[in-house]
Amino acid sequence: MKKILITGVAGFLGSHLAKDLVNEGNVVIGIDNFVSGKYQNIKDLPSKLFSLINTNASSNKLLSHYLLQDIDEIYHLASPASPKYYQASPLETIKVNTQGTKNMLELAQKNNAKMVYTSTSEAYGDPEITPQIENYRGNVNTWGPRACYDESKRLGEVYCYLYYTLFNTKVKVARIFNTYSAGLANDDGRVISNFVNQALNNESLTVYGDGSQTRSFCYVTDTILGLKLLMKQDEANGEIINIGNPNEIKIIDLANIIISLTQTKSQITFHPLPEDDPKQRQPDITKAKKLLNWEPKVDLVKGLKETIKVYKLNLRK
Ligand code: UDP
Repeated sequence: MKKILITGVAGFLGSHLAKDLVNEGNVVIGIDNFVSGKYQNIKDLPSKLFSLINTNASSNKLLSHYLLQDIDEIYHLASPASPKYYQASPLETIKVNTQGTKNMLELAQKNNAKMVYTSTSEAYGDPEITPQIENYRGNVNTWGPRACYDESKRLGEVYCYLYYTLFNTKVKVARIFNTYSAGLANDDGRVISNFVNQALNNESLTVYGDGSQTRSFCYVTDTILGLKLLMKQDEANGEIINIGNPNEIKIIDLANIIISLTQTKSQITFHPLPEDDPKQRQPDITKAKKLLNWEPKVDLVKGLKETIKVYKLNLRK
């Protein structure tokens, strides 16, 4: 039984991870300030094994918090991750990914704990090479609506690099690519939650641009397993590792698959492409396969069928 801290515990990935770790018998302490997390996601966690600290991960009071003594592992997941949310709270997003990351590194150092920092495929910006491998340095814009997220996640990585090289902190970085399941809130704004909910409500599917841009979608259980294996693997200390599904798809094709799986009468409508929207995104997962013996197991159609099933059930509630 371990004592594990998860920041962003009320979010999509944080709550899923908390359930998994609690089911394995671990004690989980969760931090969330509910900027984008939802209490609904964590309300069923057993109080015997789970405690919540309702605050910002960047609060330096956390270093002396009575619940955060003798922590074994830290998953630093806190940050809005949907463009809709991080663009609504850009300064908070920068703070949690920079000051918040430094804070968690301090806590890891103080407790001699292991830490996983969740960075993002956005660290590659609008990539000029495909697939994206970890040593590709990216094509990122400091001067645009995505910068608050992309650049602060990158600075978070720099903090991890410094704590690892200066103090030998046991930290590793996951660059997470697009992840989905029905755990994404209906109003999350990301493409799969939008398309599936639109299709189930017989509304038109809103494709941005001409839909030729690509993404690679990983089902949540695969992403969570990748993060847990990364935490376990001591050889990954001081490493950056892509966690994502290499199966790349055009957004227009995704819309058509969802239309066919839901058997909806919905049409597709085209809307302006958001500024700086990356044209392509596909992880190279050679490193994850080698170091973690991990690769995604759930293919897109299977994951979408499950996602549709659960959103449908929730609609009826
Ligand atoms: N997108 C879309 N319609 C939507 C939501 C998103 O066409 O209703 C597109 C968006 O422009 C992007 C891709 O789908 O090219 C993935 O967007 P999302 O916000 O899910 O994640 P991102 O990878 O951009 O952070």
